[in-house]
Amino acid sequence: MTIKQLRAKQHKERAAKRKVQREAARTRKQARVARRREKRAIKSAPKRSLKQWSLDVMERDNNCCVVCGAKAGTRKDKHGNIKVFKSGPRKGQPIIVPLNAHHLLDKNLYPEHKLKVICGVTLCVINHKYSKFSAHKGGLWFSEWLKINRPAQWKWAVENMGSEE
Ligand SMILES: [Zn+2]
Repeated sequence: MTIKQLRAKQHKERAAKRKVQREAARTRKQARVARRREKRAIKSAPKRSLKQWSLDVMERDNNCCVVCGAKAGTRKDKHGNIKVFKSGPRKGQPIIVPLNAHHLLDKNLYPEHKLKVICGVTLCVINHKYSKFSAHKGGLWFSEWLKINRPAQWKWAVENMGSEE
């Protein structure tokens, strides 16, 4: 074999090796992209279904706060005027009290129940988080309210709390 032929042979071998490496790299990249895509799908799927869960809970409760009956929208004072922000960056704009769907069993502690409609109640933000008799700040009061006004849901929640492990 002449030196020329030998070089040509080595060149061919190196080219073949590079081709294999390129293909392997391409496969790894495709796998990486697929993994990333799958991760993103897992991340965004629960969010979308939580939104749907929230809509389902509100629909069952006729889109009203179960405690005070408030509907989402603007608020009026006793003279019938729409309540507006009195200060701050939104001064003069109407105050809109949104409705939330509240989880009776915490969605992080009980992920297996977080998409069940029985696990939710519709509350205005005041009764959900802000007032001292809200579901979040006045848990004891809210539990009593639920026991009297939503006995089936209260029973379900208590039965599904599980035991301390
Ligand atoms: Zn309310």
